[in-house]
Amino acid sequence: MSNLNELFAEIRNEFPALTQKVHGKKLFYLDSGATTLKPKSVIDRIAHFYLYESSNVHRGAHYLADIATQGFEGARHKIASFLGAGQVEEIVFVRGTTEGVNFVANTWGLNNLKAGDEILITIMEHHANIVPWQMVAEKVGAKVVAVDILENGDLDVEDFKKKLNSKTKMVAFTASSNVLGTNTDVVGLTKLAHAVGAKVFVDGAQIVSQQKVDVKAWDVDFFVFSAHKLFGPFGFGALYGKKEILETLPPYQGGGSMISKVTIEKTTYNDVPTRFEAGTPHIEGAIGTAAAIEFVEKIGFDKIHAYEMDLLKYATDKLLEVPDLKIYGTSKDKGPLVSFNLKGAHHSDVGQILDQEGVAVRAGHHCTQPLMARLGVPGTVRASFSVYNSREDVDALVKAVVKARELLL
Ligand code: PLP
Repeated sequence: MSNLNELFAEIRNEFPALTQKVHGKKLFYLDSGATTLKPKSVIDRIAHFYLYESSNVHRGAHYLADIATQGFEGARHKIASFLGAGQVEEIVFVRGTTEGVNFVANTWGLNNLKAGDEILITIMEHHANIVPWQMVAEKVGAKVVAVDILENGDLDVEDFKKKLNSKTKMVAFTASSNVLGTNTDVVGLTKLAHAVGAKVFVDGAQIVSQQKVDVKAWDVDFFVFSAHKLFGPFGFGALYGKKEILETLPPYQGGGSMISKVTIEKTTYNDVPTRFEAGTPHIEGAIGTAAAIEFVEKIGFDKIHAYEMDLLKYATDKLLEVPDLKIYGTSKDKGPLVSFNLKGAHHSDVGQILDQEGVAVRAGHHCTQPLMARLGVPGTVRASFSVYNSREDVDALVKAVVKARELLL
């Protein structure tokens, strides 16, 4: 472990944001579940694009346009290989996880769902993986059904099997809960879903920074992630879809780039995936994401996983020593985050006291109101860890939580 600690102490130095003070105190950033900080290599790559390569892609007959296009399409190759996609055409650029769900709900969903069909989700989904399905269900007369969780926050697989049936046409679930931390059995659930003929959509927002994704081996039909949760830029993400499914989908938005030929009477559309990417795209988003993937791959997921799991165990043990503290989500297979409450204290008050101590956490419903209702709480405090955190951050968190308890209880 000591080698790993040294390695990650060096990695921490690559994050300029961590050199600043907040409220006059050292910053302990424990909100990577909301967004990760950005390493200098990613920031520099984006700055380089704006300084020297800033040009539109695909359409310019000049040197800079070529460079920008190479960077942009190069990012598609990098993301395809990062996700384990078979073909580069299976990667559609989107604004993030939320747009990815909306894209599939509005293209695949509107074209394939009909009255009486069911969309199976889970009670621990982020609103991004609930609301778009509800919207399409309302339009076509389908129904959204949610699978329950067990007491430790694991998905209730028996309930999943009970609710999965021949009416289920889409199974949409997260690979990792942003509140409980629970990692779901993507391969197992996908097999069960395919056995009844349903398609599988996986929300990869939280898993993508934790472990190697392999969409082809997992055999999922769709997978989406946001770059900003993977050390990359805001407003950019990628959707994977099996090519044979993408090819059946109509365009999502109309405009430049997505067309083959336009006349006033009729438009024919470009091939997959360009058909789904109308207008000037988020070029530096793609290029910055490629740099973020290089950052992660240089460290390696085996090391990231070992380091983060050690940190998670340390944090869990230390937090459990605080009286009146309850942790939500104790699955054996968990991402690097802890959600908790101090019994009798409001999560926002705890969050505010932590902030004054320089400890940045998330306090609220985490865009998972159905899960909060299931847990019987209005919200939780969530501390989430990443490659730049260390036991020092955890110690600062625990010290601040002890202070919050003294002040609030
Ligand atoms: N799904 C999960 C599990 C998340 O944690 C988040 C963000 O917190 C999202 C979806 C939505 O991601 P974005 O806001 O980047 O679209």
